[in-house]
Amino acid sequence: MDFALSADEHAFAADVRRFLADHPPDRFPVDGMDAGYGSGAHSRAFLRALGERGWISLTWPRAFGGEGRPLMFRLVLFEELALAGAPFGPLAGCDQTAEAIIRDGSDRLRAELLPRIARGDATFWQGFSEPGAGSDLLSLETQASRDGDQWVIRGHKIWSSHAGISTHGLVLARTARGGRRQDGLTMFVVDNATAGMDIRPIRSLTGEVYHYEVFLDGVRVHRDWVLGREHEGWAQLLRGLDTDRFWGRFYKAPMLTRVLRRLVDYANTTVRDGGWLAHDAGVRRRLAAMATEIEVLRVLFYRIGWMLAEGLPTPYEAALAKVMADEAGQKLAALGLELLGPHAALPPSSPWAALAGEIQHLYLTTMGHTIAGGTSEVLRTTVATRGLGLPREPRART
Ligand SMILES: Cc1cc2nc3c(=O)[nH]c(=O)nc-3n(C[C@H](O)[C@H](O)[C@H](O)COP(=O)(O)OP(=O)(O)OC[C@H]3O[C@@H](n4cnc5c(N)ncnc54)[C@H](O)[C@@H]3O)c2cc1C
Repeated sequence: MDFALSADEHAFAADVRRFLADHPPDRFPVDGMDAGYGSGAHSRAFLRALGERGWISLTWPRAFGGEGRPLMFRLVLFEELALAGAPFGPLAGCDQTAEAIIRDGSDRLRAELLPRIARGDATFWQGFSEPGAGSDLLSLETQASRDGDQWVIRGHKIWSSHAGISTHGLVLARTARGGRRQDGLTMFVVDNATAGMDIRPIRSLTGEVYHYEVFLDGVRVHRDWVLGREHEGWAQLLRGLDTDRFWGRFYKAPMLTRVLRRLVDYANTTVRDGGWLAHDAGVRRRLAAMATEIEVLRVLFYRIGWMLAEGLPTPYEAALAKVMADEAGQKLAALGLELLGPHAALPPSSPWAALAGEIQHLYLTTMGHTIAGGTSEVLRTTVATRGLGLPREPRART
């Protein structure tokens, strides 16, 4: 097994680093979301710069305006951006949606949206969860009914990350009743500017707004804007969630590597109780343990990336990797808070904030990560059933 990047991939990584030197991430300040991710208006400027370089559509087929590069190049791009702390969050959503539109979108959807995505002018939110439907998403109550060539959507979505700063949403709605619960759902691409859309902010623990509540009151969507087949939205959702768990978390290992390097620097330059933190056996042991966990995470994600590139099924791997990535983020944030001491709790706005408040911000934002995109409890069930072959329902005793 060879884990090394090819010569072409190395050359591309160097190209990305040159791009980052010309477009320093701190010129695109992160406005919201965790550091190194970025979901604010400033991140859009960075996204457009990536678009100008042709890197949003890097791996799309040439027939759809892409560069047709192998998937591994996208991994290299994400890793370099995350290591540099670049605000590339919207890129992950664009990639997943573009992939779905190329695979399952109508010709009209492809013609209207792909060029805008490639330029960095269209970004997406996901409208799946509702006040009464989270882990049990099939309880959703948003409905759509047909009126000629249009669908009319009515419902209420919640926790929709980035909805207020994106241009379009993917909205899952019930379009037919009867049959199994997973039948009769349809995935729509909805323009935020459509009449009947009401997008309201939800303030998070950090005081910033990443999530929104979206009310859809008679929102009209043309049939051509259905993603995949009508009434078969569940299959579309499952495919999307799997890629979301992978692409939405691939950045974690490099992003945590960057934070870990900052903590190591801090330990090397800080004296506490008369000694260097870096000489404290407990601190050294915990930093080393964290470094090991992050390296395992990185290799795990590259392996899944390789499986995706080879077209191999990943029935439980994305779930397993997401659980590990999000829990590693929480562990590193908790370790950072301990290491930095009382100043760690100060927000980035405080002049006394240690490491500019990054660890405090990481601590607060990573809390929700083990809930977003499927909770760790539910995903461990996926690993148990699909990965280990354990029974889904408790067996009756004989
Ligand atoms: C930061 C963040 C971002 C999010 N972004 C989006 C987004 O962009 N779009 C979107 O549609 N949604 C989003 N969500 C919503 C997220 O998908 C749901 O919160 C999640 O699926 C859990 O649903 P719930 O909140 O209804 O909790 P519930 O499903 O009610 O779960 C409550 C608790 O019960 C446990 N539980 C539930 N069922 C089981 C089970 N079968 N076995 C074991 N334990 C179980 C859960 O693990 C959890 O601890 C986001 C959430 C967060 C926190």
